[in-house]
Amino acid sequence: VNADSGAPTIFDKIISKEIPSTIVYEDEAVLAFRDISPQAPVHVLVIPKLRDGLTDLGKAEKRHEDILGRLLYAAKIVAEKEGIIDGFRVVINSGPSACQSVYHLHLHVLGGRQMKWPPG
Ligand code: 5GP
Repeated sequence: VNADSGAPTIFDKIISKEIPSTIVYEDEAVLAFRDISPQAPVHVLVIPKLRDGLTDLGKAEKRHEDILGRLLYAAKIVAEKEGIIDGFRVVINSGPSACQSVYHLHLHVLGGRQMKWPPG
């Protein structure tokens, strides 16, 4: 699949619950669920339910400001619910050189272990 073709992704099936996931937080605009391949004791993905052109952060436009703020605030709620509010990392991989693999914008919320900086 073209990196930014806008083709449907696996996350559409997670949103529609066609593919099961462990949901951690949900509201009208945002879904947060556990990553299938966790890179930390807590690894949750936070996504907009409506992709609306946001294949990656690099496609963000002025009209996306509201959802972008909601996603970041949802990341904080997830960190709180998961008990990692004292130390967590939020990552957005945007584009091929950042190793993005699913072209539906998502925030990774990672915690529960000591993180390293800089990342690889
Ligand atoms: P990216 O590499 O695009 O930043 O992150 C995509 C993430 O989606 C990866 O961490 C990968 O493990 C996760 N992922 C891919 N397919 C599925 C799936 O079917 N279910 C869940 N829960 N996570 C998935």
